[in-house]
Formats: sequence, C-alpha cells, structure tokens
Amino acid sequence: MVETRLIDGKAAAAQLRAEVAAAAVELAARHAITPGLAAVLVGDNPASQAYVNSKAKASREHGLRSFEHRLPATTSEEELLRLIARLNRDEAVDGILVQLPLPRQIEPQRVIDALDPAKDVDGFHPQNVGRLWSGGRTLAPCTPFGCLLLLRQTLGALSGAEAVVIGRSNIVGKPMAALLLQENCSVSLAHSRSRDLPGLARRADILVAAVGRAELVRGSWIKPGAVIIDVGQNRIAGEGGKSRLVGDVAFAEAHGIAGAITPVPGGVGPMTIACLLRNTVISACRRRNLPDPAL
Ligand code: NAP
Repeated sequence: MVETRLIDGKAAAAQLRAEVAAAAVELAARHAITPGLAAVLVGDNPASQAYVNSKAKASREHGLRSFEHRLPATTSEEELLRLIARLNRDEAVDGILVQLPLPRQIEPQRVIDALDPAKDVDGFHPQNVGRLWSGGRTLAPCTPFGCLLLLRQTLGALSGAEAVVIGRSNIVGKPMAALLLQENCSVSLAHSRSRDLPGLARRADILVAAVGRAELVRGSWIKPGAVIIDVGQNRIAGEGGKSRLVGDVAFAEAHGIAGAITPVPGGVGPMTIACLLRNTVISACRRRNLPDPAL
C-alpha cells in the first residue's frame, strides 16, 4: 500500500495570490500601474454569474481593477463584438475574459478571435494557442497552468515522466498536453474514443483527468505511486437530498495507490482564479514592455 499525499490546491492558490498582490503593489509603486481585468458576462446563467462575481472580487482583493460588463441574454453577436473592440482599445484594461458558455446566437470562436491576443488572459485566442504549441511566450490557459504549478510543486522536475491526459477540450485537455510536452513529459491525450483507457491510464506517472464524468477513473486504472490531478467537478446526489461535488477520479479507491492526488473540492479549482490574476498582472507588464514578474 502506497502512502497517498494530498495536494493542497487551496494553500498553493493562496501562495500564488499573495505573490500576485505583491507584484501589483510593486507595479503601482514603481510604475503607477494598476492592472485591470474586464469580465464580460452575457445572460443570467447562475453558475456563470457566480464565477464572474468571484473573479471580480478576487481582482479587487489583490490590487487589480475590475471592470464588469453584464449584458442581457438577448445581446447580439455584433453588440458583443463592439464591446470587445472597445475593451481592446481601452488602455486601463490589461485582461479581458469572456465568460463561457455564450447564448446560442453568439458564435464563441468569433468572439475569441476578436480579442486582442495581448489581453487574452484565458489563453484561448488562436495566436496564443499556436504560441503555446510552438513553445513561444504566451498566456497559458488558467486551469491547465494551475495544474502544472501543482505538479511542479509535487514532483519538482517533470522531465521524462509518462503523462496521460484524459479529455481533449480546448480549455483544459489540449493546453494541458502542450504544457506537459514543454516540460519534456511523454504525453498521451485520451478521449471518448480512446481504446483501453484503463490500460493507457495505468502507464501514467502523471494522470490528469479532465472529463466531466463522476469517478470515471477507478483505483485499478492507477499505477502505484502515480500523481493524479483531478480537474473534474461533478455534482451528484448526496445524503439527505443534498448534492455534493466529486471529481473524475474515484478518490477513495485512489487512496493507498496514488502517490499524490488533488482532492475535489480544494485541489485544482482554487488555482484557476489565482492563475487568472497572474495572467492579468503579466499582461499588464508585457503590454508596457516591462519584464515579467516572477509568478
Ligand atoms: P468538455 O469540454 O466536456 O470535454 C470533456 C472531454 O472528456 C472530451 O474531450 C471528451 O472526449 C472526454 N470524455 C468524455 N467522456 C469520456 C469517457 N467516457 N472516456 C474518456 N474521455 C471522455 O469538458 P471540459 O470543459 O474540459 O471540463 C472537464 C471537467 O473539468 C468538467 O468536470 C469541468 O467542470 C471541469 N473543469 C474544472 C475547472 C476548474 O477550475 N477546476 C475548469 C474547467 C473545467 P471527446 O472529445 O471524444 O468528446
């Protein structure tokens, strides 16, 4: 039986947030700059509202300016593109995040394509995606970058490790694979058509699950000692009619097999907003040709 370490995402995120706040203080003192993050929310999806509220609150708490744009669900694509063009021109705005999903009448890729790549703090613009895959300087998507920070903290160097990422979305799985490749891992990117997923997963020294299927990854899929990053956030029925949050990995089964694992909640989740603040501060520096802060 392996002793399984818990990877504390809350503590890692608190540390990164403190570093972001310190970098913001220094930018204000030395250059009179306050990094600004604009959040755009279209419609009234309660989960999206909650995400935007917590991103705006976190910005203000860490010395950043927050600009919130809440548009009705009936907003047309042209109206949204006009707002994006305005934010692209606004010197006070260093980062723009458009909360997804968008209402049906709006094509998300058109909106992402319209962002100034220098302000694309989610790292979704094709120019930033291309730079990520070609190893250039970019703004990496927040959730996978947060996973990478947790892996570095847990393992130190990742070079030569066999990494398996389950899930190939543009926001998590694919950029995660690109980041692991940059760290010199041997990377497999698995998805719903992958054959023998348990066998593939069992090869992994590093296993990242970003699927959105409650407890898909069983204990028997895990190589003893592997480090598991569970990105999944799935609501399932709990006791007393209440719901509870579980990951994509059967946590209780992984315990005693994995070398280390992120819990859900309290693992990857807290890192995402911390990385968004980090990207905003970095974007504020790069747009003014200042060196990147050490974040
Ligand atoms: P997504 O866009 O729905 O992508 C899911 C991926 O999983 C797809 O590539 C899909 O394969 C694959 N998949 C689905 N069923 C599978 C199966 N049975 N076996 C193997 N692969 C399977 O999801 P996402 O946006 O990447 O999010 C994934 C999870 O992460 C969700 O639970 C989400 O809530 C969570 N998440 C958390 C954070 C955070 O901050 N903690 C941020 C983002 C997402 P195909 O491509 O073949 O369809």
